Amino acid sequence: MTSDVGKTLAGMGNVTNPLVRQMIDALPVAIYLTDAEGRLTYFNEAAAALSGRVPQLGVDQLCVTWKSFLPDGRPLPQHECPMAIALQGGDVTPGLEYLAERPDGTRFWFAAYPAVIRDAQGQITGGINLLVDITARKKAQIEAEAAASSLSAIVDSSDDAIISKDLNGTITSWNKGAERLFGYTAEELIGKSITLLIPPDRQNEEPEILARLRKGERVDHFETLRRRKDGTLLDISLTISPVKNASGQIIGASKIARDTSETKRAERNNRLLSAIVDSSDDAIISKDLNGTIMSWNSGAERLFGYPAAEAIGMSVMTLIPEDRLDEEPRILGRLRRGERVDHFETVRRKKDGTLLDISLTISPVRNAEGAIIGASKIARDITERKRAEAEIRRVNQDLEQFAFSASHDLQEPLRNIKLYSELLSRRYGDKFEGEALEFLGYLSAGATRMEMLVRDLLAYSQVTARQESTGETDANEVLAQTLSILAPTISQAGAEVASDLLPSVRIHRTHLQQLFQNVIGNAIKYRGHEPPRVHVTAARQLGYWVFSVGDNGIGIAREYHDHVFGLFKRLHNTAEYAGTGIGLAICKRIVEQYHGRIWVESELGKGSIFRFTLPV
Ligand code: ADP
Repeated sequence: MTSDVGKTLAGMGNVTNPLVRQMIDALPVAIYLTDAEGRLTYFNEAAAALSGRVPQLGVDQLCVTWKSFLPDGRPLPQHECPMAIALQGGDVTPGLEYLAERPDGTRFWFAAYPAVIRDAQGQITGGINLLVDITARKKAQIEAEAAASSLSAIVDSSDDAIISKDLNGTITSWNKGAERLFGYTAEELIGKSITLLIPPDRQNEEPEILARLRKGERVDHFETLRRRKDGTLLDISLTISPVKNASGQIIGASKIARDTSETKRAERNNRLLSAIVDSSDDAIISKDLNGTIMSWNSGAERLFGYPAAEAIGMSVMTLIPEDRLDEEPRILGRLRRGERVDHFETVRRKKDGTLLDISLTISPVRNAEGAIIGASKIARDITERKRAEAEIRRVNQDLEQFAFSASHDLQEPLRNIKLYSELLSRRYGDKFEGEALEFLGYLSAGATRMEMLVRDLLAYSQVTARQESTGETDANEVLAQTLSILAPTISQAGAEVASDLLPSVRIHRTHLQQLFQNVIGNAIKYRGHEPPRVHVTAARQLGYWVFSVGDNGIGIAREYHDHVFGLFKRLHNTAEYAGTGIGLAICKRIVEQYHGRIWVESELGKGSIFRFTLPV
């Protein structure tokens, strides 16, 4: 092509022909000529205007422009400029686009159409270049490209599925959102029918949608079901708009599909939750931070006797008896701080004025931003429980009273039996013989044992009798005191009782002493062949202490580990080991009174470790 132009222009020389020259000057395109070395020999008005400067003939090389750049912004090297290539006899694609800068800093785009001029022998004698100003078109193109790329970025980054299809329902575009939502890639679906996404029982929807689109109508927020690649169904909301070509003809549709499964699930959850709230036997109420009742379930209707219509909008104060009105501000204060109130036992008033014992659990309710806007309240009727608890307390007290007076009152006749059996043996012992003496022996042994039982039972019944609040008790002191009481037993058995440094605990002194005395006493009593070795330690756990009393005694078979803590439960008869079977029952009662636990870790013949927990 270049060579053709070259031929046509051959012989034109340096545009000496005035007619041609006039013609070129008048042309609205920039034109310039060079000699075979590329030196500028001629330029027209339009070339000076376009380049924004007056080129210097014989000095300027190859180009009239001041500074030229490749489309990517890099400076155009001289040897790469189209005129240089043409003059070297190279092939130059006509219309290559470049950017140039004028001396005043303004920039313009141009397309270059260089050609060489040859003489009759075909020798290159010069070149001619035509520069067409394409700035306007280029700008529009750049803007359109930017707009298109930002649009496609929007489409691609959208969480919604954005799809386009033609009027036959064939998919023509498929964004990332659509890939995520439906599980198909763009390659899989472009060119396929949109009906692939439609569940069989909804296939009739597509023709209807297409018919509306053909009429130029838009389909807004159409809620339906679509099928994912894996076959699962999706709740979606569709917005479909017709797509028109430049002449306004409808050629397809754009479709925005939004996954509404979450919303649907939330709606279902809400329905489920409100069904639960409604069917609950507990009163479930919500109130705002002024104490105005906002919701009221049927449990609340039953419990308080107000129908929802009456209760909603009412102040919760209506439910509070006069002597407890100060509770509400305190509860509201805690709620405002974001705290929860758990199992708060109080009294509320029903519509008919009767009082109810209730347990309240109140939690702050927050809005989407996390600000506390009110409270939910679960009220449980505990009137029955309170009555039962009071009944149990009364029965327990009666039993304790009975055990106390029984054991107390038994002491006197017992003392008499002991006293007179001793008198009998002292004064008339020499008159008795054989069986009579033997019977007398049984009588006094029985009385002694009965005395022990009565004493221990009394101790057992008195465990709960001491309920005054307790301060800190130094376990080291109590242990020392216990060991001095047990001193005769210890020395008699040749026992050794060691202990680590013990903590102070919140338990009544006497109770701790009873615990130590029973457990250490047993450790010595239930010894094996070795002299007893007893070790007392305490370890801190979260919120409590675990005391351990270990021994090297006869041990306890696993199946009796719970049994030994029962009242009168013994593993041996009195002939083997003296005892009443009450000691560990007393220990259990004491420990449980402080919400602790007592247990034994042991194996027959391998010693025992008795452990109990006490509050810090
Ligand atoms: P008692 O010692 O008066 O029989 P306890 O209630 O103190 O009653 O103990 C119940 C039973 O548990 C005891 O009869 C004994 O069989 C068993 N026992 C308690 N302590 C130990 C121990 N350190 N080693 C082995 N057995 C024990």
